[in-house]
Amino acid sequence: MILSNLHCHTTYSDGANTPKDMIKKAIDLNFKSIGISEHAQCGYDIICPELNKEDQINYFELLDSYKEEFPQIEIFKGLELDSLNPTHEGKVDYAIGSIHFLKINNEIYPIDYDYEKLKELIDICGTPKSFVIKYYEEIISFAKTTQFDIVGHLDLYNKFNEQNPLFSVKDKWHIDIINNTIEELTELNKIIEINTGAMGKGYRTEPYPDFSIFKSFKDLNAKIIVNSDSHSINTLNYGFDLIEKKLKENNIYQIYTLTKNGFIKTDI
Ligand SMILES: [Zn+2]
Ligand SMILES: [Zn+2]
Repeated sequence: MILSNLHCHTTYSDGANTPKDMIKKAIDLNFKSIGISEHAQCGYDIICPELNKEDQINYFELLDSYKEEFPQIEIFKGLELDSLNPTHEGKVDYAIGSIHFLKINNEIYPIDYDYEKLKELIDICGTPKSFVIKYYEEIISFAKTTQFDIVGHLDLYNKFNEQNPLFSVKDKWHIDIINNTIEELTELNKIIEINTGAMGKGYRTEPYPDFSIFKSFKDLNAKIIVNSDSHSINTLNYGFDLIEKKLKENNIYQIYTLTKNGFIKTDI
């Protein structure tokens, strides 16, 4: 598979390694390109350190300097924006739009902190179905109102639902909602990420979204990209071989990649 990853975190937010370490490792792995996508400051994440305003200037300048220092790989400046506060300063080459929280009655509830907090959020919504409906309504409204290129970890709530303790992801209502979302996001010209981050961290054996959704990607002609949401040099290409196999099993032979001329469809 074409080796590239546009979803990486470094010591500028909650990653373990510096941008330079990530870039050097990507070169060792023969990556064609790498994008660093720190968490932009949203102001209410109590677990994840964010890229603060002062660091943001250094971050952009540093990545620009690495573009010159490492001509053997294409380097892109990115940010991962949170849906509740996606504002940022500085010019990026691309942005990932992600939902990590839902706001209900002026309270902010995290989706990916732990199982208990997610369960609390689902209970506040009433049922798993009403939670899922709200979650995807937020994604669509975010996609309609905010400039970003890639939808991050589409079904993040499944971080704690690998064995379906919360609800069955294979239920028709769930698959229908996901398919409608993919259709709408594709119409909005968003690229949907196949994200191996939770696999690399040991939470899941399948990516976001799981392999059963790959058929929908094909049927709905979705624009997709493969990212590792890597927080260390050890997971930059985590699960990529398996993803390639599953994509081909679903007759998908092209994915999107970022180039100097923007996003283009590329053979796997
Ligand atoms: Zn994220
Ligand atoms: Zn991320």
